[in-house]
Amino acid sequence: MRTPLITLLSGVLASLLFAGTASAVPTEQVRPVPKGKTALVANPIYKSGKLEPDPCPEQPAYDNDLESAEAYLNAVLDCLNEGWGYQFSKVELPFSKPRFSVTSRLGVPTGCGKFPRGAQAVYCPVNKKITFYLSKGILSQASELFLFQVLAHEYGHHVQQLSGIMTAFNSRKYKNAKAVLPELRKIELQAECLSGAFLGSVWRSLDRRESDFRYVLNAAYSTATHGTAKNIAYWLTRGFQQDSPGACNTFTAPRSRVS
Ligand SMILES: [Zn+2]
Repeated sequence: MRTPLITLLSGVLASLLFAGTASAVPTEQVRPVPKGKTALVANPIYKSGKLEPDPCPEQPAYDNDLESAEAYLNAVLDCLNEGWGYQFSKVELPFSKPRFSVTSRLGVPTGCGKFPRGAQAVYCPVNKKITFYLSKGILSQASELFLFQVLAHEYGHHVQQLSGIMTAFNSRKYKNAKAVLPELRKIELQAECLSGAFLGSVWRSLDRRESDFRYVLNAAYSTATHGTAKNIAYWLTRGFQQDSPGACNTFTAPRSRVS
């Protein structure tokens, strides 16, 4: 059994607490982005069906090589843009690509404050930007499926932002930092499920074995913001098996599934 050397689940507590900006003016026929409770529990994105099984062949990412890891991530990002862009068009919600940057050090600006210690990547809803931290630890395992899955998770937050889920979450009033945790876990577990849905949709075009997926699953560990290891694995697998954001409605799930 291999033990992961790195912490991989991305912490976005700080960035999530910032309100998102309004969506850009759409150019195609679109419907208004849902708000409030509707955005959370009955979002049109849940009815968008399966993601297209488009091919997304992985570029080589060599261990301990920043350049190839960055190129790898950019190629995965192209696939995510393609797949999710089409998904939004199916339900006539406006879509735009996220901004993206890679950093090899902590503390760089993300749009939601400095890049925090302990996070692998951050999505900032204010500037719709993903910042990915390629630490020595993760670069030593760059050929594992982590990079792909973490980027797909952050992209899940972008999907939440574009579909009104993040804004609805941010606009609710919470008594204190502790009161936000149950709702934050639904956000995080949903992003995990959305990463699984995307991974599942392109799985056949990846040169991977089931053990690669299991390795990512086994790396899940419990935190107050992201849920128990068991639930993280549950939502990742659920998305992966159904290839659809419809599998990812954590806002109507039983409490035991979002603990
Ligand atoms: Zn997250």
